[in-house]
Amino acid sequence: MTSTKTEASIAATETLPASDRRVHIVGAGPVGLFLTALLQPVEGLSVHLYEKRHEYTRTRMVQLSSYLVADSVESYSADHIDGDNVFAVFDPPELDEGLAFRSAIPSDLMTLLQQWTLGFCPLNTIERSLSDLIDARKSGTVQRTAAVVTPEEAMTMLAPGDILIDCTGTKSLLRDHLIPGSGEGNGTNTLNIRLEYALVVAFLYGQKYDCNEYCKYTKNLENPQYKFIPMVQRTHYDGSVTHVTGIVNITAEEYEAMPSRFDGQWLRDNFPAAAQSMDRFIDKIKEETHGEILGDLEIIRIPLNLYRARNATSRQWRTAEHAGHPFATSPVFLAGDSAIGSPYFQAISLGFECAMFLAGLIAQPDLPRRDMLDRYELYSYKQWLRVYMRSKMIKHNKNLFESIDNRDALLDQLHIY
Ligand SMILES: Cc1cc2nc3c(=O)[nH]c(=O)nc-3n(C[C@H](O)[C@H](O)[C@H](O)COP(=O)(O)OP(=O)(O)OC[C@H]3O[C@@H](n4cnc5c(N)ncnc54)[C@H](O)[C@@H]3O)c2cc1C
Repeated sequence: MTSTKTEASIAATETLPASDRRVHIVGAGPVGLFLTALLQPVEGLSVHLYEKRHEYTRTRMVQLSSYLVADSVESYSADHIDGDNVFAVFDPPELDEGLAFRSAIPSDLMTLLQQWTLGFCPLNTIERSLSDLIDARKSGTVQRTAAVVTPEEAMTMLAPGDILIDCTGTKSLLRDHLIPGSGEGNGTNTLNIRLEYALVVAFLYGQKYDCNEYCKYTKNLENPQYKFIPMVQRTHYDGSVTHVTGIVNITAEEYEAMPSRFDGQWLRDNFPAAAQSMDRFIDKIKEETHGEILGDLEIIRIPLNLYRARNATSRQWRTAEHAGHPFATSPVFLAGDSAIGSPYFQAISLGFECAMFLAGLIAQPDLPRRDMLDRYELYSYKQWLRVYMRSKMIKHNKNLFESIDNRDALLDQLHIY
């Protein structure tokens, strides 16, 4: 195709009549479902949602950030670390735009968000509630397909001007396909920073329990090597039961030697020193609050990766040279874990935040595609800066905490002036 034809074909899809607009969302995890629920009421838009799983079974407890339901700049920036970053990265009109979008979220969806920001909630409850809400609205504008979508299928299902959103999670379907010439799985489009390897230990405790930084310190006094750290805002008093999730830093070798999931007894039998840090911590909680662990400990081992897609859209394909490619005429966006991964578990909130912004762009039928792509790239980059700064700060604080009783090791970590 000549470059004149290319420009003509790209230009023809720059803005489409509202009634013709189709959005394909691949991946109906929390972010894909949330985005679908946001786009469902938009006039003239039809949404095609693809998901490979047949049911929602992930029971892990997750917490969403209260900034998702903020109604003022103050409440949006209430977290003292995140708040500073927000003011450094976003301009006031951008913050106002985000708040305006929230105030326009349909009440059925906003009610759910408000519930989830109160405390811990099983991930599958979030997924099922969103899925049920989409079905209950009976809008007739959402079509759902149960299928594993391949990158090739994703490309062939696009008519010029369709929008494709990849919400397939951390192993993103299309992240590596957003740079022309980059091969599948070569990771060119991913910036990955491994912060640490960790055990994530989750349990239910039959008493009210909370833990500030002082408590994390005193309960780890006899744990010189491994320290059990209940995660930032990871405890929620839920009537009579407290959900506790903590992490223990482990080495790469230990990570390799462990299965992906196990219980407390397996850890005691195979890595007694790591298990001791956890058991000592729990014993101290029990001494203090006279409660019991309900059920067993659930432990997984994971690498804590902070990553981003260097390109969160297909804008690199929009050149004369690649005119025949579906991504030249159909914008592609990454949302949720497929775009950015943050290890200390603000991840769903970040995904929802980007989904709101993207839905706001898609809802503007007159917005040229080029502007849509550029604005989303910039926004994703700003969200990345925000989460990068926060995650590095938490990791740095963790490092200091882990050497707090060793003056030389502590000073080695510091750079003062
Ligand atoms: C132990 C642990 C605790 C966590 N705790 C928290 C927490 O407290 N708060 C928080 O915010 N986050 C937490 N997270 C992170 C959170 O679970 C993820 O950020 C979130 O699930 C990402 O949502 P997503 O929709 O982007 O991707 P996913 O949840 O990964 O969903 C992707 C969906 O796409 C589908 N899919 C994938 N490929 C295809 C394909 N080719 N075709 C069709 N469908 C496909 C998958 O089946 C899946 O349903 C935690 C993570 C872990 C591991």
